[in-house]
Amino acid sequence: VSEIPESKCDVLIIGAGPAGLMTATWMARCGINARIVDKRNTKIFSGQADGLQMRSLEIFDSFGFCDRAWKEANHMIEMCMWNPGPDGVIRRSDRVSDVPVGLSRFTQIVLHQGRIERFFLDHIKKYSKDLIKVERAVLPDSLEIDEKLAGDHSPTSYPIKVTLRHLTEEEATPAQSNGSSVSDGLFRSNLADDDTDDLIRKSQGKEGTMEIVRAKYMVGCDGAHSWTRRQLGFQLEGEPTDFIWGVLDVIPITDFPDIRMRCAVHSAESGSLMVIPRENKLVRLYIQLTEVKPDTSGRADRSRINPEMIIKAAQKILSPYKLTYEHCDWWTAYQIGQRVGTNFDYRSRVFLAGDAVHTHSPKAGQGMNVSMQDAFNLGWKLGLVVKGIARPSILKTYQSERRRIAQDLIDFDHKFSRLFSGKPAKDLLDETGVSMAEFKEAFVKGNMFASGLSVDYGASMLVAKAGDAAEQGDGTDVSSKNEVISKQDLATNIKIGMRLPSFKVLNQADARPWHFQERLKSDGRFRLILFAGNVLSPTQKKRLDAFCSTLDASRFLKPHLYKDIDILTCHSAKRTDTELLRDFPDILHPFDVRTGWDYDSVYVDDVSYHEGYSDAYRGYGVDKETGCVVIARPDQYVGFIGELSGEGMREVEGYFRGIFVG
Ligand code: FAD
Repeated sequence: VSEIPESKCDVLIIGAGPAGLMTATWMARCGINARIVDKRNTKIFSGQADGLQMRSLEIFDSFGFCDRAWKEANHMIEMCMWNPGPDGVIRRSDRVSDVPVGLSRFTQIVLHQGRIERFFLDHIKKYSKDLIKVERAVLPDSLEIDEKLAGDHSPTSYPIKVTLRHLTEEEATPAQSNGSSVSDGLFRSNLADDDTDDLIRKSQGKEGTMEIVRAKYMVGCDGAHSWTRRQLGFQLEGEPTDFIWGVLDVIPITDFPDIRMRCAVHSAESGSLMVIPRENKLVRLYIQLTEVKPDTSGRADRSRINPEMIIKAAQKILSPYKLTYEHCDWWTAYQIGQRVGTNFDYRSRVFLAGDAVHTHSPKAGQGMNVSMQDAFNLGWKLGLVVKGIARPSILKTYQSERRRIAQDLIDFDHKFSRLFSGKPAKDLLDETGVSMAEFKEAFVKGNMFASGLSVDYGASMLVAKAGDAAEQGDGTDVSSKNEVISKQDLATNIKIGMRLPSFKVLNQADARPWHFQERLKSDGRFRLILFAGNVLSPTQKKRLDAFCSTLDASRFLKPHLYKDIDILTCHSAKRTDTELLRDFPDILHPFDVRTGWDYDSVYVDDVSYHEGYSDAYRGYGVDKETGCVVIARPDQYVGFIGELSGEGMREVEGYFRGIFVG
C-alpha cells in the first residue's frame, strides 16, 4: 500500500471565492507559506456578485489594483425610484445620489465577481512570486485538530491535519441549472482575454489521489454550504426566507428611460424589481418571483424557474414600458436565508469567513463586499502572528470585530427586504402597504451601512478606546483590552475603531497632491501618523523633537520601525516656508546609504497648484498648532490617538507592547 504523501504549510485556505482570495492576498503580501484549494476546476467567469462598495475600492487601492476595477466597471451615480401613480401606472418618483456624498474618493461601481477574482489572482501571483497558486479540483476530505497542540503557538506546532482529495475533471465541474439553454455561472463565450488560461487547467497528474497537509492555521472560505463549518459543528443561526429571487444579466432592448440608472421599481400589483446597470451594456435585473413558492420543506423547486419566466415577471412590473433581450449572459434563481454563524473561529486556529458565516439576500450588493472585508480583517492578523511579530491573542479580535458586522448586515437586509418586497401603499391611510417615503428614508440611511464606511470596531487590544468590548455585546474577553486609552478629542473626525478618512495633502518634497489614504498601503505594517502641526512654531518644534527623540530611544519600538511600523508625517505649516531636511527629524524621513533620503513620508496640508485646497487638518478635526499622533492598523482602522509629546510617545509604546511579542 503506497503511503499518503504529507506536507506542511503555515496557513491552509479552503475556497477561492472573494473571501479566500482576499486571505491569500494578505498571505502573499505578508510573505506567508500558504496554500489555497478549491473544489471547482476553474474560477468563475460571469454572474454572481457584482457590486463594489466604496470601502472595498479603498481596500483594493491599498493593495494597488483598484485602477483595474475602476476602469472596467460601470459606475453607478444615481438611484431612481419608480412607483405607481394615482392611476396605478409606474412613474419616476424620486432621484437620489447612489451613495452618500463626500465620504470617500470612490463611488459604487459594478463589475462581476469573475473579474474581481482575476485581479486578486494576478496580485497574489505577483506578490507571492508565483508561490501561492489556487489549487483547483481539490476537496478536503477530513479535518483533525490536535487539541494539545492548539494552545502551543511555538513555530514548530502544526495542530491541524487535513486530508485533501484531488478530484477528476468530472467531479470538479459544477452542474448547470435545468431548463435553460444559457449556462448559469460558467457561461464561457464572454471570457476576458486574461481569463482564458484559467480554462486550461494544467493537470498535475494527481487526479484521484490523496494527500495530507499539516497546518498552523486554517481559514474556511468555502461559501454558504461550508464544509469547514460543518466539520467544526458550528451552525448558522437565523431564519430561512420565503423570498425566491430571479437574477438575469441581459443586454436589454427597452423603452424604459432609466435602464442605465440603478432603479428600485415597485409596481402596483406585480411585485418589485431592481435594475443594476452593468459593464458591457449589460443590465442585471433582480426580481422577486412571487409565483414560485417554497414547498412544505421550505425549499422552492428551482427547476421550474428559467430565464423566460424571469423576464416575463420583469415585463409585468415594468409595464407599460417594453422589455426584451437577444443576449442573456447569465442567470440564476435562489432562495436565501438570513443567517449568521454562531462562531467565527475554533480556538483561534480554524477561522470561517464570508458566506461560510453569513447569508442574506443579494439586493443590497453586500455579499461579496462583506466577505472580502471579513478576510481583510483576518489576513494581516494571521500574517503577523505566523511571522512571530504579534501575540496570538490578537486573533480573538477577528470574531469580536466581524461577528457584529455580520449581525448588522442581517438586520439591514431584513429591513431592506421587507421594504423592497412589500406592496406600495395606495395612499396615506393604507397601513399594510409600504410607504415610498419610508422606502426612500431607509435607502438613504441604509446607504451609509451599505457603503462599508460605517464599520466601527469596539475596544480591544487593537483598538485603544474607552468602553469595554463585552458591553458592546460581542463577547470579547475584556482582559484582552489594550491598556492605553486614546484621546478622541485630539482628532474629532478620526474615529477610533473606524477606517482613517481621506483628504488631499501634498508631498513636502515634490508638491504632488495625494489622498492621504493612498499612503496607507496594505503591506502588513502599522502606520504611526504624526500630525506634526505648525512645525515653524518653536514650542511645537520642541514637542515634535521630544516625540521623535523618545521614539528613537525606545528599545522596544526601534527594531520594529519601518519593518513593522511605517511612519508618516503631515504638518500644517506653509510648504514653501519649510524644508524636509531642515525642519523634520531624520527619523521621519530616514536615510539609506544606497537610496538616499526617504522623500515619500512627509506631507503638508497646503494649497496645491492644480487640485485646490482640501483643508485636511480641519477635515480630520486636528488642531493646526499642536497636532496629535494617530496609529492606523495594517487595515487602515484607527487603533490609537494621543498627544504629540514625549508622554504621547510613551503611550504609543504602550499600545504596541499590548500587541507585539517583543
Ligand atoms: P463563495 O464565492 O461562495 O466562494 C466559495 C468558494 O469555495 C467557491 O469557489 C467554492 O467552489 C469553494 N468551495 C466550496 N466548498 C468547498 C469545499 N468543500 N472544498 C473546497 N472548495 C470549496 N451576491 C450578490 O451580491 N449578488 C448576486 O446576484 C449574487 N448571486 C449569486 C449567485 C450564486 C449562484 C451564488 C453562489 C452566489 C451569489 N451571490 C450574489 C453571493 C456572492 O457570490 C457571495 O456573497 C460571495 O461570493 C461570497 O464570497 P465567499 O468567498 O465567501 O464565497
